[in-house]
Amino acid sequence: MDYTFIYNTIIINFMIFDTHSHLQFDDYDNIENELKTMEELGVKYSTLIGSDFESTENALVIARKHSEFFVVAGITHPIESPQIANLEEEIAKVETQIMENRKYIVWIWEVWLDYFHLNQEKIEEEKEIQKRVFIENIKLAEKFNLPIIVHIRDAWDDAYEILSKANFANNIVIHCYTWSPEIAAKYLNLSDKIYFWFSGIVTFKNALSVQETVPNIPLARILVETDAPYLAPVPYRWKLNTSGYVKFVLDKIKELRTETPELVENTIYENSLRFYWITD
Ligand SMILES: [Zn+2]
Repeated sequence: MDYTFIYNTIIINFMIFDTHSHLQFDDYDNIENELKTMEELGVKYSTLIGSDFESTENALVIARKHSEFFVVAGITHPIESPQIANLEEEIAKVETQIMENRKYIVWIWEVWLDYFHLNQEKIEEEKEIQKRVFIENIKLAEKFNLPIIVHIRDAWDDAYEILSKANFANNIVIHCYTWSPEIAAKYLNLSDKIYFWFSGIVTFKNALSVQETVPNIPLARILVETDAPYLAPVPYRWKLNTSGYVKFVLDKIKELRTETPELVENTIYENSLRFYWITD
């Protein structure tokens, strides 16, 4: 029996971290099945992102039971609830939730600026609400000395302006980055703690702009995510996504980079731990 081989296989197989999923959603019948896929594909950890108070609670139920999972607390986004009658109340609720679950929560909010889904009748009004929530989220992260997850769609200039004015000192990650190397370069100038999240989209045949970005930013700024149940990578495109499939995202990034596959895998894993301040 060649134990060296087994030893190497174990080490190499478990250096993958899905830094963004929603396995707590109703799309999944049983978390054990998702854990099995993670294990089969060598994925060690997955971070469950809450999209509101309830979905963060559901993520906590899983994380208390399984050490493979961490939780990110989320605040209802104005797209789901355009009026957010009581933002202060919502924030207070989430603050308490974090205080009570510090052990599992890796301290981040998903901060949105998304102009793709705007109501055509009140574009300016909705942009203003989104900007207000965006700024409030940044303040909240500052208060707790937390990093932030930033979701930007069709709003690159406004998001850049807010972030540069905020002079945010902690880690920032741009969710589901699919844009050009030029936009990435602009955001890289914003902070030396900025990261880019690459999802299953990077495996799509027509995703040329993101495939051009991957080899053109520092490896130290790259993280991988699934955003499961959404955005399943090739060869599972259009199927239900799951954290294990982050392996296919990583494989594509290895293919696009010039470093050795081992170095790419190890560095991205280290980046994930550093981003979430997790000690392995
Ligand atoms: Zn998500």
